[in-house]
Amino acid sequence: MIREIIIWPDPVLKQVAKPAERVDDGMRRLLDDMSETMYAADGVGLAAPQIAVLKRCIVIDTSPRQEGQKLVHLVNPEIVRTEGLTTYTEGCLSIPGEAEEVERAAKVWVRALDYSGKPFELECEGLLAIAVQHEYDHLEGTLFVDHLSSLKREIIRRRMKKLKQERAAERADAIKRAPGHESAL
Ligand SMILES: [Zn+2]
Repeated sequence: MIREIIIWPDPVLKQVAKPAERVDDGMRRLLDDMSETMYAADGVGLAAPQIAVLKRCIVIDTSPRQEGQKLVHLVNPEIVRTEGLTTYTEGCLSIPGEAEEVERAAKVWVRALDYSGKPFELECEGLLAIAVQHEYDHLEGTLFVDHLSSLKREIIRRRMKKLKQERAAERADAIKRAPGHESAL
């Protein structure tokens, strides 16, 4: 099921997500919803807080932008090692239409539980390393705009607030235009 992606600024995106107790069918349904939502939005990664679920889980798929990669599920991820530095122009499904350069580790090693609940370790570089760090940030209540100057962040915040108002107005309009609106309770 495609879920609604929360747009920043929103208090839910600032919270620290809680570890998942186990990877059961409920968790797998959440992971499926997350990947479906990510693909529908043409994203390369999504963290559970972005659909208002404060659980430490992430889905990432950097293919075809990065050859040889595929869908990765990370439950309770931990970044155990980093190496080097790189900058990349990042966007975020919770901050649509915006992209800014952010400095990150060039290479990261992440430990997590997979879709079946089995622990594994993944060595990540290129876009995958960026995505892991970006999505991990979401679990800590941090967004890429938090890595920018406060001036840049405020400009983006204003644009996002305007976007949210426009979307709310469009939704209200659509409800008004819907047939049978007058009798709808
Ligand atoms: Zn994001």
